Amino acid sequence: MIRNFSEFLGNSENIKFLIDKIITKTIPNAFLFYGPEGIGKRNLSFVIAASLNCLNRSKDSAEPCGECVNCKRIFNNSFPDVTFITRDEDRTTISIEQVRNLKKEAYRTLYEGLYKIFIIDDTKELKDSANALLKLIEEPPDNTLFILLTSNLMKQLPTILSRCQVLKFQKLSRTEIESFLKTTDPKLLEDERIINFLAGGSPGEIIKLSSSYIKLIEESVINSIGYVRENSYYQILKETNKITSPTPKKLPFLREDKIEDDNIKENKATIKNSREFLLNWFLIMQMLLRDLVFFMKKYPDNLMFFKHLNNNEMDKLIKGTDLDKLLQLILKIEEFRSAVEKNANRELIFLNFVIEMKSIFT
Ligand SMILES: [Zn+2]
Repeated sequence: MIRNFSEFLGNSENIKFLIDKIITKTIPNAFLFYGPEGIGKRNLSFVIAASLNCLNRSKDSAEPCGECVNCKRIFNNSFPDVTFITRDEDRTTISIEQVRNLKKEAYRTLYEGLYKIFIIDDTKELKDSANALLKLIEEPPDNTLFILLTSNLMKQLPTILSRCQVLKFQKLSRTEIESFLKTTDPKLLEDERIINFLAGGSPGEIIKLSSSYIKLIEESVINSIGYVRENSYYQILKETNKITSPTPKKLPFLREDKIEDDNIKENKATIKNSREFLLNWFLIMQMLLRDLVFFMKKYPDNLMFFKHLNNNEMDKLIKGTDLDKLLQLILKIEEFRSAVEKNANRELIFLNFVIEMKSIFT
């Protein structure tokens, strides 16, 4: 997790704007940050909260120290004056009860902090909770800041929008990716495909898939690295058969006992043929490699698809790998994918891929 403004990659205009608001003490009642998932809106909210509550911050800087008791507790999400609210899993938005509780919290005096912050995550469709929230944002108690996070601005009521300072966050721009590559692997600067990939891959293609299907492939992709590392060639051959049979009956690299049966059944029905499956498998493998690159370079906020993995899990995956090789493999998969599209022998393609993996994941 990034703990100060200067470490953020991308969206530099917004970062500058926020720093200025903090230094000049012109913080509005509410911010609404919108933009795609996985670009650090949530993390940034915690940096703002730390900045406004830091005990060591100098007047001419917005950077929280990261060391004082307030900073530490805020970054652990255990500070009583900074509240993070997200919708319950079975709901599409935060509930009216959550807003009512929030109201109670907002009107009590500060516990230990200097500024009360409410970070409201994933406010896609506020519906009935919108009015309650609106009143609160209109007449907030002193030293209170609401930060609403959303990936979809269209669904926000105009009345909410008009009362928030709205900041749009974007995926990394081309220039940002280029300056990232300059510090990592300048020879890839010429490669259009790698730039596109690092900028966000092809989420469009992935969004079309169901989330439980993606979850299965994700798990399979992660497990495959373990198999390659363990040199379980017999296992890999067995798994290759699964991938290349006309309609995969079993999914490769998955411990099926770990996944609920319904899930497997439902997804087997989704997999029409192994060609399509392998294409998706490669795509998600590319996403994993992409995220590993950013994790390795200490930009955890730019993780897109594997941000649910914790640091230990990510460390395990990158152990012994090398940045250059990871980037090269992303490109090679592109070639493998186009070979699959052209109906080349899938078994051969997959075995070739395993050999490539073997040279990276040792
Ligand atoms: Zn501090």
